[in-house]
Amino acid sequence: MKVGIIGAGIAGIATAIRLRTLGLEVSIFEANSYLGGKLSEFEVQGYRFDAGPSLFTMPHFVEELFEVAGRNPKDYFDYETLDVITNYFYEDGTKIYAYADTRRFAQEVEEKTGEKKEIVLTFLKKSKEKYELTGEIFLRRSLHTIDSFLNRETLWCILNAYKLDAFRTMNQANQSLFKSPKIVQLFNRYATYNGSDPWQTPATLNIIPHLEFGIGAFFPKKGMFSITSSLARLAKDLGVDFTLNAKVEQIIVKENHSRKKVEGLLVNGEKYDFDMVVSNMDIVNTYQKLLPSEPQPTKILNQPKSSSALIFYWGINREFDELALHNIFFSQNYQQEFEHIFKKKTIYNDPTVYINITSKHKRDDAPPRCENWFTMINVPNNSGQDWDMLIAQSRENIVKKLSRMLKVDLARHIEVEQILDPRSIEAKTSSSQGALYGNSSNNRYAAFLRHANFSPTITNLFFCGGSVHPGGGIPLALSSAKIVGDLVKKRLEVLQK
Ligand code: FAD
Repeated sequence: MKVGIIGAGIAGIATAIRLRTLGLEVSIFEANSYLGGKLSEFEVQGYRFDAGPSLFTMPHFVEELFEVAGRNPKDYFDYETLDVITNYFYEDGTKIYAYADTRRFAQEVEEKTGEKKEIVLTFLKKSKEKYELTGEIFLRRSLHTIDSFLNRETLWCILNAYKLDAFRTMNQANQSLFKSPKIVQLFNRYATYNGSDPWQTPATLNIIPHLEFGIGAFFPKKGMFSITSSLARLAKDLGVDFTLNAKVEQIIVKENHSRKKVEGLLVNGEKYDFDMVVSNMDIVNTYQKLLPSEPQPTKILNQPKSSSALIFYWGINREFDELALHNIFFSQNYQQEFEHIFKKKTIYNDPTVYINITSKHKRDDAPPRCENWFTMINVPNNSGQDWDMLIAQSRENIVKKLSRMLKVDLARHIEVEQILDPRSIEAKTSSSQGALYGNSSNNRYAAFLRHANFSPTITNLFFCGGSVHPGGGIPLALSSAKIVGDLVKKRLEVLQK
């Protein structure tokens, strides 16, 4: 059986590996001249930058792909565990080191803010409980097939649903638990891990801290892009066929006795026959551009999208001992910042600034005595704002804020600059509105309002990636590939009977 995959993002590549191990003949078509979509890299004047994701969690989701293929992960991919996850900086000079060791972290929080360490440990314990209750059901299975619901784990989850804290917002839950506004802010930040707003997203999302503090935060030794490159190498070793600069223009659907089935793909004007098709392209654009004459699931496609990002990739001509791999410089008014992103759809003048510096761990990512700064702020998704004006204003605000907090004239040290904004994210990866994570989770029903991993109307059409179930971010994009693999396996079993 022949499968055509649209897009070589991390989910497309992972799906290719899974389907190839089922014995299918797999071809991937990628519109860009490079692999990885959001998870790609580039180099400029001696500085290497990971273009998109910078935080690596759940490495076992990557490793299991090598195991499924009967290979040793260590032959392809290696990573280290972080002892300090993030350095947090506040305007009043407070610095908090988020140690991976939770007791040490809780002690640090108590010393720096007065927040009792027992409260922090209780919060992290509850975060773990929520993850254990929901992780397998919401993240590793289809939510759209009946057999996902007919089992003991799902029944257990339904009976314990009250523990998920879905009826108040993340901010309400955190404010009612912590006395220190600094710690409320620190834990509210986890809403941004899937592009949501802590003042709207349900407190269920307080499971996210467990991913970092319970399971761990990691750094791939050859940079984030090595997740893409090592999985692509595995796919090629297994015999997956990759074609770059190959923009899919149409999913060809055949109707027979009012039943629809995929027949192939139209790529750069040429027709390719396939028995199955998997789209890793954003779901909104898959329907609107590749299936324009099919019925559109408008309720799902019109769900509000997650936030986007504005990134300045800076080559910095000096080193900063106080900075680590992940650094956060908090806004003084977090609520205002989110109001601007999600309600006013603009950028706040005192944004929280995230700096990721891979040269702290991978020295050759920057010239000697220099650092590669991936400087990012959360911004609204693209709805036609005057981005050139917003980017110019934000650059000035970010440089001023970092200069003030690091006590340095930062502008003098920026020797290289590249910019990524919601428009370029949309143009480079086809993400609807340049959203980083597909739909936002600012709604307690969001998990049920993402598109299924299969088409309900067109046989043998499947969907993977950050814009469909279970959602955005590397671990979830990889989970979507697992779910597609499981669905295809079942379909093959039915066909063989
Ligand atoms: P994509 O990476 O978007 O890949 C889709 C691919 O399909 C692209 O290569 C595109 O070119 C191709 N394509 C689209 N249309 C066509 C077509 N018609 N024909 C052929 N090919 C097509 N996640 C984390 O886990 N941690 C982080 O720290 C993190 N930070 C992020 C920071 C930024 C700036 C961004 C942009 C994202 C971040 N994410 C992070 C999210 C993460 O990158 C994504 O959720 C994940 O990479 C999505 O992978 P994907 O395979 O679903 O989609």
